[in-house]
Amino acid sequence: MAKDMRAARLHRPGEAFQLDRVEMPQPRPQDALIQVKACGIIPNMNAIVSGTLWHHLPVMPAIMGLDATGIVVEAPKTRSDIRTGDRVYINPFLACGVCPYCRSGRKLLCADAALRGYFGFTPKGAELLAEYPYGGLGEYLTAAGDSLIKLPPPISFDEGARWGYLGTSFSALRRGEVGAGSTIAINGVTGTLGVGAVMLALAMGATRILGWGRNRPVLDRLQTLAPDRIDALALGEQPIVPWIRERTAGLGVDLLLDCTGRGGPAAPVAEAIGAVKRGGIIVNVGALAEPLPLNPTQFMTSALRYHGSNWFSNEEAALMAEMVRAGVLDLSPWEPRVYPLAGVNDALADIKERPGGFVNMVVAPDR
Ligand SMILES: [Zn+2]
Repeated sequence: MAKDMRAARLHRPGEAFQLDRVEMPQPRPQDALIQVKACGIIPNMNAIVSGTLWHHLPVMPAIMGLDATGIVVEAPKTRSDIRTGDRVYINPFLACGVCPYCRSGRKLLCADAALRGYFGFTPKGAELLAEYPYGGLGEYLTAAGDSLIKLPPPISFDEGARWGYLGTSFSALRRGEVGAGSTIAINGVTGTLGVGAVMLALAMGATRILGWGRNRPVLDRLQTLAPDRIDALALGEQPIVPWIRERTAGLGVDLLLDCTGRGGPAAPVAEAIGAVKRGGIIVNVGALAEPLPLNPTQFMTSALRYHGSNWFSNEEAALMAEMVRAGVLDLSPWEPRVYPLAGVNDALADIKERPGGFVNMVVAPDR
């Protein structure tokens, strides 16, 4: 018996979302049926739905929505540990399964991957979106069993809907080998990735977290999270390199994490590389799109490494949930801002104003 449901759909790139009635998704044996409780709204979403960039959007009209959480209504036949009523995050990363990377178990390197409810990285990747055409901006969705991450009780649905951006920061910090006593500098610390990275770095044992950005109230707020460990600088206030060295006994930082927002300049990152410790790591997880001038001699003599990092594994998503359950990772600094399904266009307008990385904006179809 096919019932229908409400979903906010994009009918044409660049246009407002429309609230439609569509057919309920029908799960296949390998899929779960999920009732959506929250879907994260992120700064990059306006750029994606504009359709003017390189991203390959799903076939229109499309139920968009990248990061969803919800309750399992029908459990998948492929996961004995997932039951009806479980609270889950749906990892939207879809890999092709057949390319050399997927076949060697490195799905995050998939040549034709996609993010469901969002875009394909290639035209072939976008074809994967037809398998799971239900983003988080609908009342229900289907999801493959292996894409489900259980959310233990301390994590609210609204907090879980931030898992995509938090996981992206987490994977980047792990790539940067952050651990007990690490010193970290974060370019673009006031955005969604930056604030998440600070919260995670505190949990991972970093003792010096230095960041800069443009949003003064957010910079001030960040320092209050751990005044003895965090220092924040307004970009342009003073030169970055001496500021970092003064706070790291002259040595510099173990890791420079670049969380540049879309359209941001390369200059602050290029400058800050001068304050990375010998043997240190630079990880790019942001949206820096212009060329970054690098000095190969400096990289050789100081044995520096430059890494890109993109998304995260299911294992990392589960690890973050366990860190929250155990009280290691504190999500309380986030400020939830909840919109009904009919308010998705308001949410997208509000996120354009760049409220900063503490605001956790979600659309909740049943509220
Ligand atoms: Zn693949």
